[in-house]
Formats: sequence, C-alpha cells, structure tokens
Amino acid sequence: MAPRGMHTDVLIIGAGPTGLALALDLARHGAAALVVERGAELFPGSRGKGLQPRTLEVFHDFGVLDRVRAVAGHYPPNLIWRDGEPQGEHRMYDPAEPSEAEPYTEVLMLPQWRTQQVLYGRLRELGGEVAFGRELVGLTQDEEGVTAEFATGGPVRARYVVAADGGRSTVRRLLGIGMTGETVDPDPMLVADVRVDGLDREHWHVFRSEEGLLAICPLGGTEDFQLVAQFRQGAAVDLTVEGLRRVVAARSHLAAEQVTELCWISEFRPRAALADRFRAGRVFLAGDAAHVHSPAGGQGLNTSVQDAYNLGWKLAAVLAGRADEALLDSYEEERRANAAAMLELSTRVHRGEERRGRATRQLGLGYRESTLSVETRPGLPADALRAGDRAPDGRRGGTRLFDAFRGPHWTLLTVGTDAALPAVTTPVVRIPAYEVYGTGVFLVRPDGYLGWAGATADGLAAYAGRQGLLAP
Ligand SMILES: Cc1cc2nc3c(=O)[nH]c(=O)nc-3n(C[C@H](O)[C@H](O)[C@H](O)COP(=O)(O)OP(=O)(O)OC[C@H]3O[C@@H](n4cnc5c(N)ncnc54)[C@H](O)[C@@H]3O)c2cc1C
Repeated sequence: MAPRGMHTDVLIIGAGPTGLALALDLARHGAAALVVERGAELFPGSRGKGLQPRTLEVFHDFGVLDRVRAVAGHYPPNLIWRDGEPQGEHRMYDPAEPSEAEPYTEVLMLPQWRTQQVLYGRLRELGGEVAFGRELVGLTQDEEGVTAEFATGGPVRARYVVAADGGRSTVRRLLGIGMTGETVDPDPMLVADVRVDGLDREHWHVFRSEEGLLAICPLGGTEDFQLVAQFRQGAAVDLTVEGLRRVVAARSHLAAEQVTELCWISEFRPRAALADRFRAGRVFLAGDAAHVHSPAGGQGLNTSVQDAYNLGWKLAAVLAGRADEALLDSYEEERRANAAAMLELSTRVHRGEERRGRATRQLGLGYRESTLSVETRPGLPADALRAGDRAPDGRRGGTRLFDAFRGPHWTLLTVGTDAALPAVTTPVVRIPAYEVYGTGVFLVRPDGYLGWAGATADGLAAYAGRQGLLAP
C-alpha cells in the first residue's frame, strides 16, 4: 500500500535549468508534475551564461524565445590586457550566417539566473509549480512508484522521479550510481557576479599575469560582470569581497575599490564525468546530475535542457498510456551517448585543442543510432537528411516548419510527394519539394528529430502505432 502523503505522476528534484525545462515540457503535455527545490528561491548566479542555437530552437518550441531575446546580450570580443595595456581583440566564436534551415546561429548571453526566471515564468503560466525549501533526503522505489522523503515536510509518492539536482546529486548517491570521469584541470577557479567601475561593456576583458588568468565579462541585459579567476593547485581561494578585490588589484590595472559590489560568488574545479547509468527503475538522471563538464564551450546548461526535452515527451506518452514503457529506455540510449561526446568536446575546448564552432552550437546533434530512429530509404547519399537527424526549419507553401512543429505533438510531414498516408491523430503537413529534406515522408518527434523517414509511407503505420499515433 502506498504511504500517506502527496501524489504526483512525475516528481522532479531540483529547480535548476534541467528541472524547470522538464517541468515546463511536461506541463505542455498536460502531465502532472511537481518540482521540489532545496533552496528558498531560484539560484541567483550567472554560471551558465551561453545559450547555444539548438537551445534557442527549444525555447522557440517552449514559447519563450521572444522573452529570452528581449533580455539577452551578445558575446563581446575578448580584449587581452597585459601590464595595464590592451594587447588586442579576438573572437571566441567564428560567426555563422543564419540560413532557412538553421535560423538561429548566434550564441546568446543570458545569465543563468535570468534563463531560470524565464523558464519559471512560463512554467507558472502553464499551471506548473515549484515547492521551495524541500530538500530530498531519502528515496525508495517499488513496482508501482517511488516514495521521496524530505528534510522537512511529508513524503511525496510519484510514478517517476527525475533527478535534476545538479553535479553533487543526492539522488545519484542514494541510488548508488557511480560517476566516471577525470579532472580536466586541477587548478581551482572562482566565479563571481560583480559590479566594476572602469571597464567598458563592449569587451570580455582578459588579464594575463604571473598569478593566473582573470577574465571579466559584461553580462548583457544587466549591470553586472561575470568574473572568473584561476588559481594554482592547492591555493586557498578567498570567497570574500576583500579577497576578490585583492585578486583584481594584483592581476589587473584596476584598483581594489573599483570592484564596487559582489552579488554572488562560488568556487569550482573543472571536471568531466558521466554517470554510469541515466536510469535506475523509475528514477532518471538528467542535467548535471548525469554529466558534468568544463564550462569551456558553454555546453552544460544547454546539454541539460536537451536532456529535459528528450525525456519530457517520452514520460508524457507513457503516463498517458499512448506508448509502451519501453519508450523510456530510449532516454538513456540517446542522451548518454550524446553526453559522452559533449564531455569530450568541452574538455578539448578547455584545453585549447578545439575552437568553439559548429559542434558547440549543437545543431548537428542527433540520434541516428537510436532504436527509435527508423530510416527506410536504402542507399542515401552520405550528406542526406535521415532518420535521427534534427528536423530543419524552412518555409514552403505558406508553412514555416518550426511553427508547424511547435507544441507537444508529433508532425507527419510530406515533402514533394502526395504519397498516401495512414490515418494518424497528429497534424499532417504537406509541403512542396525542399532541397534540405529531399523528398519523402517524415514523422517528426515532439522534440524536433526525425523519428521515421521513407520515400513513401510503407511501414509507417507500424511505427506510428507503437507511438500511439494511429487514428482509431
Ligand atoms: C563558471 C561556470 C560557467 C558555466 N558556463 C556555462 C555556459 O556558458 N553554458 C552552459 O551551457 N553551461 C555552463 N555552465 C554549466 C551550467 O551552469 C550547468 O550545466 C547547469 O546549471 C546544470 O543545470 P542543472 O539544472 O542540471 O543543475 P543545477 O543548476 O546545479 O541545479 C540543481 C538544483 O537542484 C537543487 N538541489 C540539489 N540537491 C537537492 C536536494 N537534495 N533536494 C532538492 N533540491 C536539490 C539545487 O539547489 C539546484 O537548484 C557553467 C558552469 C559554471 C560553473
């Protein structure tokens, strides 16, 4: 018998970017979910400040892209300083031109606290909620569900639990899931949000000195700067405003008192580690709970949002009884491989072995190898779009594809063919030939990847049936 306490379908532990994105996605699907957060309020720091183009596409689907754009900034060029003299500028990202298929190519700058505020605002509009001041301390599961215990307040019983409780995940520890990885850099680093006088806001100021790197970046849309300082291995890092002022005075031409305010500060050591499993029974790991990266390359928050986007529709389909429980196995299959590749990428960027570019923008990521991706066209050219790939945008025949895909539904898309289709419960969109897709029949997943692809609809009914998409 289930213990007394509150019930929900999905209990999400942690209201960081992962937990909020997942709750928002589940709310769009009409699934019952509750987010519990140990803190009394949302996280206040700027930490993950780079929003990659693929995340902007997700935010378009979530209906928050305009809000993000209204408050986001652009990445300024780096300005290198030595002995109080500017040495020259360089760009961290090679610019990429937007195209019809990839309309967003710029990395936008938004402090993490603001991204979280935007997601939280949208979650509340959709009727979702976060219970603050609830720290998870215990977890037990049986065949029907999971019972979560908290430091304060009664237990919560849920059909599924998602650990979105960050790199030091309590849930991961309670489940005994190991994390395999390495230290990317043994030198401790300090990250802080500060107000500084005497630096322009058009550059990301980088100071190189004997003591170590100091970087001060204006946070677009705010009056703050994000300050990052690297220390030698074994050095004690002073997290007081006085300590921070000493670092700035020693490593730059600024005087200590030109740091006028300290808003938030934290210490970290870049690590790259991957959880051995992303699922244990009814409990899933997502975001930093499943993988931690070096901040170089700006992949952590973005990969975390993509985890949530991958898991949300699957949980909703299983909870609604449309799809078999086995669909949930594809979460670990798809996202763990993806996270492993991302870990390697951010480590290479951290070590200066790879430049930020096409890979860090995350538009080329996909799930070709997934058991959920069914490609029925033999002999496709190597560069052809195929099942598992991201479904590109485009405008044909009066339709913008991203607007057609927007929402929690699958989309049955025909391109340049009037092939007969099975009767499905999901929107059908027919567009004339479009070179990015070639021609054929495509079933687009709720998270914007091609689930099934064929020259005709032969074999599509069986796939659509497994996803609960056939009309009765
Ligand atoms: C300096 C720095 C720069 C970065 N820059 C970037 C960048 O440019 N781009 C990028 O993509 N990423 C970046 N990242 C990484 C990014 O910050 C993380 O990947 C992201 O925060 C992960 O989100 P999350 O929701 O999984 O975890 P978190 O943001 O850590 O959120 C976890 C939440 O769970 C709560 N919680 C923890 N334990 C419990 C418990 N027992 N019960 C209830 N609640 C609990 C916490 O209070 C917290 O609110 C950066 C990180 C750092 C340190």
